[in-house]
Amino acid sequence: MLGVTTVQDLLFVLPTRYEDRTRVQPIGSLLAGHRAVVEGEVQLTEVVFRRRRQMLCRIADGSGFLTLRFFYFSAAQQEGLARGTRIRCFGEVRRGPLGLEMVHPEYRRIFDDRAPLEDSLTPVYPATEGVSQGRLRMLINLALRELDTAGVRDWLPTSIIAPLGLPPLRDALRYVHKPPVDAALDELEAGKHPAQRRLAFEELLTHQTVMRRLRESTRTDPAWSLDDRDGLESRFIAALPYSLTNAQQRALDEVDADLARERPMVRLVQGDVGCGKTVVAAAAAARAVGSGRQAALMAPTELLAEQHQRNLDAWFRPLGVTVALVSGSQPARTRRSALEAVAAGEVQIVVGTHALFQEGMQFRDLALVIVDEQHRFGVQQRLRLAEKGQASGRHPHQLIMTATPIPRTLAMTAYADLDVSVIDALPPGRTPVKTVVAAETRRDEVVARIDAACREGSQAYWVCPLIEESEELQCQAAEETAAVLAEALPHLVVRLVHGRQKPREKEATMMAFKAGKIDLLVATTVIEVGVDVPNATLMVIENAERMGLAQLHQLRGRVGRGSRESGCVLLYRAPLGPLARARLNAIRESNDGFEIARRDLELRGPGELLGTRQTGLARMRVADLIRDADLLPRVQEAAEILLASHRDRIAPLTQRWIGTDERYGRIG
Ligand code: ADP
Ligand code: MG
Repeated sequence: MLGVTTVQDLLFVLPTRYEDRTRVQPIGSLLAGHRAVVEGEVQLTEVVFRRRRQMLCRIADGSGFLTLRFFYFSAAQQEGLARGTRIRCFGEVRRGPLGLEMVHPEYRRIFDDRAPLEDSLTPVYPATEGVSQGRLRMLINLALRELDTAGVRDWLPTSIIAPLGLPPLRDALRYVHKPPVDAALDELEAGKHPAQRRLAFEELLTHQTVMRRLRESTRTDPAWSLDDRDGLESRFIAALPYSLTNAQQRALDEVDADLARERPMVRLVQGDVGCGKTVVAAAAAARAVGSGRQAALMAPTELLAEQHQRNLDAWFRPLGVTVALVSGSQPARTRRSALEAVAAGEVQIVVGTHALFQEGMQFRDLALVIVDEQHRFGVQQRLRLAEKGQASGRHPHQLIMTATPIPRTLAMTAYADLDVSVIDALPPGRTPVKTVVAAETRRDEVVARIDAACREGSQAYWVCPLIEESEELQCQAAEETAAVLAEALPHLVVRLVHGRQKPREKEATMMAFKAGKIDLLVATTVIEVGVDVPNATLMVIENAERMGLAQLHQLRGRVGRGSRESGCVLLYRAPLGPLARARLNAIRESNDGFEIARRDLELRGPGELLGTRQTGLARMRVADLIRDADLLPRVQEAAEILLASHRDRIAPLTQRWIGTDERYGRIG
């Protein structure tokens, strides 16, 4: 399970927390939730039936009493816990019906008071199938004794590690596996001890180096230089009803410069919701097509893929370019003919969901892969699509778009294999969305507001997010909401869109909404990403207290796309917990994706923000991108040093920290 095959592997199975078994605690000082060693005399042991048969044993030590609760026990065990017996036990203290208790504690009888306790804090390792904690501890203890001879080499040059004031590897390992009695448990559990930081640094450095190498190696592959001899890109831009913002133009210039090279571009275009990433991607696609080749655009949801297909088709058809949709839910025949047209090169731009990189998909001449809203995809999926183009012997360029704004050091770490362009301004004429937070008891007022907005010619969304555990229940809830709203607003056209509908039905509804034929669209979170209807100026989000900041920001990004003032109403069900309150305040106070991401990081940590599948970084053993953020600049520097002067050390470090994990695609 843990992939442990050598002594070194064993030593890098690192504790997730510690227990203090070095001293006996008075029962009177115990706190629920803590783990502790206590000693006491059995006062009473009895078998009772409370829903199920169980044995209760009450012990006391003069400072208080504690109940031990066993659901599995033998007659011998019961006899062994007779009144007057002295025992020492270890377990987690919790509040029970009879006061504080321990459920199934470890215990043994003691015969004299000087029975030895542990001489160091006890590490608790990640749960492993088939290996008990006790056995793991014993094995790791043995491995520690051989630490000096076991070939556990310190691969980090002292020139890197010494200025950081961090200990050498072996000292760090000894410390984390066997912290001394006087070690600060709080510091250790917070992961802030220098020994832990030493390991975290090495882990971060290893990931960073591997990603940089991945970057180097993709950039040595051959790719088509896209010269756009047909001038399609400039014709495309000239035909737009607006001119590009400076921020868009800058990003596009960077993209174009990359596309002109004979090495694959791997570029992330990052920009807040609504900044206009689609048109930049479309311009890049135009360049590919103008160079006589194909482009593919991958979107995370079918709804979004359909919308992109419609937009691109409207832009490109007048220019004589064919855009096709490939989606998993197409009728087999439609799909097959689309696939054939793509393989034959009759289609120049293909839009789709992850169906794009599945079997049977073949391109004639794929030169550019565009991935929209990449936080919804893993590194793997992106690499798989990139592989599609390789039939021609050339690698496609990759353009990745994300609305997840992350702080710079984090970006450099999480996206070390990418170049990054930032679109840091919105198109002109937007007015910030006014956001209010309201208890759901004020529904009537909200309905009145929808009524007023729609009478003035605007449109509105009403979002019912996932609060039911199944999509089916969620869709049912949305159906009910739609029915209630339709009744309350009889003169408005109210329609529903959700994930369980037939693709054609969804598409028809979205098109009608876009065409202004629907006033109020009730939706599940299927509309979360990318949906673009500038005439919609009001969004109501139910159960907003259950949602994450990034998701709320994305959803709210569906309004405020035109020049009219837009509003967002976050409905919550009281009472609000402190975290939910902090989230709702953050979203009410700011429209700025960067600021919201910063708050999100504080509230939730990077794994959530980046999406657990997005980068390997979200799954590390000791390091934590937020806790160890101060190390990141040094990690960058150290990666340069390793890559420049100690390349031979990268392989053993990779083996140690990442093993054969293929999360980065080709390593090495
Ligand atoms: P996102 O970056 O969230 O994907 P979109 O590409 O969907 O944003 O663009 C949001 C809206 O802004 C669309 O309606 C688009 O037509 C419009 N838009 C994009 N660029 C410009 C521009 N330069 N000037 C005016 N409107 C623009
Ligand atoms: Mg978008």
